Amino acid sequence: YTYGNSPPVYPSPEGSGLGEWAEAYSHAKELVSQMTDEEKNLILTPAINFVGCSGFTGSVPRLNFSGLCLNDAESGVRTSDHEMVSGFPALLTVGATWDKGLAYLRGQRLGEEFKAKGVNVALGPVVGPLGRVVKGGRNWEGFSNDPYLAGSLVDPSVRGMQESVIACVKHFIANEQETNRNPYFQGFLAPLGVNLNNSVSSNIDDRTLHELYLWPFYDAVRAGAGSVMASYNRVNNSYASQNSKILNGLLKTELGFQGFVLSDWYGQHTGIASANAGLDLVMPAGTWWGFNQLATAVHNGSINSTRLDDMATRVLAAWYRFAPFQTPGVAANHGVDARTAAGNQIIFQTAVEGHVLVKNENNALPLKAPKTLSIFGYDAPSGFNTSSSDSPLYALGLANTKAYTNGQPFGDLQYILLAGSIQQGPVPEVAFNGTMITGAGSGAITPSSMVSPYDALKREAANDGTTLYTDFVSQDPAVNASDACLVLINAQSSEAGDRSELADEWSDTLVRNVASKCSNTIVVIHNAGIRLVDQWIEHPNVTATLFAHLPGQASGDALVEVLYGRQSPSGRLPYTVAKNESDYGALLNPTQPDAQNPQYSQSNFTEGVFIDYRHFEQNNITPRFAFGYGLSYTTFSYSNLKISKTADHCSLAPPDKDEKPSEGGLASLYEIIATVSVSVTNTGKMAAAEVAQLYLGIPNSGVERALRGFEKHWLQPGETTEYIFPLRRRDLSNWDTNAQQWLLQEGDYQVIVGKSVLDGQLNGSFSL
Ligand code: BGC
Repeated sequence: YTYGNSPPVYPSPEGSGLGEWAEAYSHAKELVSQMTDEEKNLILTPAINFVGCSGFTGSVPRLNFSGLCLNDAESGVRTSDHEMVSGFPALLTVGATWDKGLAYLRGQRLGEEFKAKGVNVALGPVVGPLGRVVKGGRNWEGFSNDPYLAGSLVDPSVRGMQESVIACVKHFIANEQETNRNPYFQGFLAPLGVNLNNSVSSNIDDRTLHELYLWPFYDAVRAGAGSVMASYNRVNNSYASQNSKILNGLLKTELGFQGFVLSDWYGQHTGIASANAGLDLVMPAGTWWGFNQLATAVHNGSINSTRLDDMATRVLAAWYRFAPFQTPGVAANHGVDARTAAGNQIIFQTAVEGHVLVKNENNALPLKAPKTLSIFGYDAPSGFNTSSSDSPLYALGLANTKAYTNGQPFGDLQYILLAGSIQQGPVPEVAFNGTMITGAGSGAITPSSMVSPYDALKREAANDGTTLYTDFVSQDPAVNASDACLVLINAQSSEAGDRSELADEWSDTLVRNVASKCSNTIVVIHNAGIRLVDQWIEHPNVTATLFAHLPGQASGDALVEVLYGRQSPSGRLPYTVAKNESDYGALLNPTQPDAQNPQYSQSNFTEGVFIDYRHFEQNNITPRFAFGYGLSYTTFSYSNLKISKTADHCSLAPPDKDEKPSEGGLASLYEIIATVSVSVTNTGKMAAAEVAQLYLGIPNSGVERALRGFEKHWLQPGETTEYIFPLRRRDLSNWDTNAQQWLLQEGDYQVIVGKSVLDGQLNGSFSL
């Protein structure tokens, strides 16, 4: 099909109850058969929401269906009163852990909290945005801008969450910028004749769509995701919430998705067209469906009754399978403490492993019971300049945003009202009023309590008898003679606005000022996305630097664990840090509306698959810190690369066209075609985890190195372990636009196993 045009794909495929869905589908069909069309209509549209959820559907009490409570977000139950819930590390932190097992455990604990608070549908995890636009305001809500890493982490996240609730994987698809994402209540005001700008159109070719943006959705659907949220943007000029190619074609046919699709908040733009294009449920305004229009459309023949039945069946099947409990509603569960000791442990460990050490000279870290320690920077304490400085609110994205929009409050309530609105304006890059444990917007967490870096450092100092000097306010603080000077800064980011810069002058000046007076300056950055460091990283007095990402409630404890060497850092960058903003080229900034044609802003994804490290490689640009990079307190050596092919599966013949679909696409895409293994030895003195990464050069892909495997294992000093990377058909294939298939390629596959995309330790190749 032609670029920028979305082809029609009808009719909408009916869910068939594939695999583990069979039983839930038969229950759902039975229930639907007892419902009137009006009742089906009711459960697909919002009800008046007295239950404190982000969204709530209608119910059918006579059949014991009490409705669905849908609630944000991907890193914690978002409550209005911060009541007895945890704040988990953001998914960017999970991306930085490169740990599939932790992603599963985190998902499991998170799901339990949602369930305890009466939520049926948890509005996460996020794999869109993927992170194409470096300043994209919501990149921190997802794992990584590499599709393989994101896909490998979303699978266990979904499985873990869905032990308790329905996960909602969002936003489908190509929601890569906030600028012009859903102009001011376009969906809401259009029926009143107010015609404002349309959402930006992400114009993507078929190959790029498959190999990058759709890739992690394959994994999420394969994991059994019960729901998917359609994004605000248009895709090839058709709104994602009514785009038959992406919903009927890609999601429900190619990926075999059995759950339901819901609109993003105020992201619906038509009634009949969206239903026929594959949208199943709408939130939170009933403009087009909420006044019995679906039932009416069936009665007058505009929508086939089978479509309405399929919509209701999909919703009820997910409910039966994952969340069939009564009394939905956060408000109905105020007294319930959702937190658990086991959850705290996972929250802490995920936060620890999400710290990425990028510089460590003169053995600056770990700290060894320093006699004197100085702490500088606004990001160290839990909050200040406020009357209630102990409140975790001051560490939260929303509060930070509120305080720093210069007198224009942008709090929770306004936030919800403006959720669908236009350019909120870039959020200030720095959250000056306390440490930052989360990004801002609907994905922000609302934990009951948190531990700031300063809290934890104070406790540590008391144990060690360390004299602490602190100044959290000055940009040019006086520095007393200290064994080490910690400087804590941050880089904030929010939904509804893209970032304005990747490094702020104020914080960079602070770091340089401290470094000019302290020969052991250690910089810690809480960053909701890529943060550049070239203003000071080569300063000889900057001895160590940590990207601490968004650790959630255990922020300070996790930082101390790493700073004092109780655990070696084991995080790796899930993105590329450039030396200069301009190194990111056209992918630095979001697309602005075209002055000539502001109503139909076009964002052309002409770079194809060349985002992040692929872009650096293609343009021969050396980054400051490569994708996958991160230091440890120990050393590792790699040896013994082995490659074997699975004889049965490596014929070049395409998968059988008549192969029955399964969830996540054809089952044959998941057959193991080859296996690579290496031995890794901990050659240092401390137990630590190593993340070994496998990059492939796939013939005819144009990409020299694409991540296609990673494993993380803990190794004792002297211990050797084998790392095994199974390579599935999809991992070894290119999307062929003519065949409309994933095809293995004839020729040599280059294999590189190493510590980052630029730090290959062992090379090999095999051919198909
Ligand atoms: C966001 C979604 C969120 C929803 C409900 C929207 O503005 O894009 O990610 O789940 O609001 O708060």
